Amino acid sequence: MPEGDTIAYAANRIRPVLAGRVPEQIVTPQPRHALDRWPERLRDRTVTAVDTHGKHLFVRFEGGLALHSHLGMTGAWGVYEPARAGLRPLAVQARQDRAGPTSSGWGRSPRRAWIVIRCEGHEIVEFDGPTLELLTAGRARFDQTLSALGPDVLASSFDADRFLRLVRGDDPTRTIGDALLDQRNVAGIGNIWKAEGCWEASVDPWRPVAGVCDEQVLAIVERVRPRMMRSARDGPRAIAARVYGRKGQPCPRCGAAIQARGQGDANRTTYWCPGCQA
Ligand SMILES: [Zn+2]
Repeated sequence: MPEGDTIAYAANRIRPVLAGRVPEQIVTPQPRHALDRWPERLRDRTVTAVDTHGKHLFVRFEGGLALHSHLGMTGAWGVYEPARAGLRPLAVQARQDRAGPTSSGWGRSPRRAWIVIRCEGHEIVEFDGPTLELLTAGRARFDQTLSALGPDVLASSFDADRFLRLVRGDDPTRTIGDALLDQRNVAGIGNIWKAEGCWEASVDPWRPVAGVCDEQVLAIVERVRPRMMRSARDGPRAIAARVYGRKGQPCPRCGAAIQARGQGDANRTTYWCPGCQA
């Protein structure tokens, strides 16, 4: 699942194309969106901002309307220059599309495109994913998922006090690895950065929250933030995992073999080093 840095990377590619401009054309090719009338509702409106909170991305239009996406496991945003059509997409994909290039030049089947925004000769496309909706300002304010989100891990100044309060208010017997995945505690950390953060702070992800002191809880987030910010700027190649996906390989810090096991209700695989994470 794309994590906060991947979503922020997408926003960083979309923003220079759309912000401050009126898209020339907005198309929703799929019958599932035919009744939504987004092209009509968004016609002639300037894009005022493109921003993110955790894994949620917002394209904001004048008049208080915002396209809101959550990509889930399968979704992706793509940004394509017409000159590069048929070549590699410029922006983010949640996963490699094995179907290969298509006639659209998008690298994904046009049948999976929920929305296409054309502006300044670019095509911005959202594919797949569980959530793509047009929110009014009122709807956004009362959306329960959005209002329950914890502080954004990628915010320019992270609200560490609030994060700590939320973690301390969580079930103390829950493992710290599982608590970090809960977007109500901190928004934007997923399975990769949970594992990397625990490793950075030398904290065993299997410890119950009650057994991790405030300093260590904060260290997990503070140490991955710069790495996540680099990835948000430079793209997924900047992640350079130390433990994630490296089962059986030597820990870069102590040399012990990295372990992996499913954790939490969703049984997401956690990677950790038994040698230096206590
Ligand atoms: Zn180690």
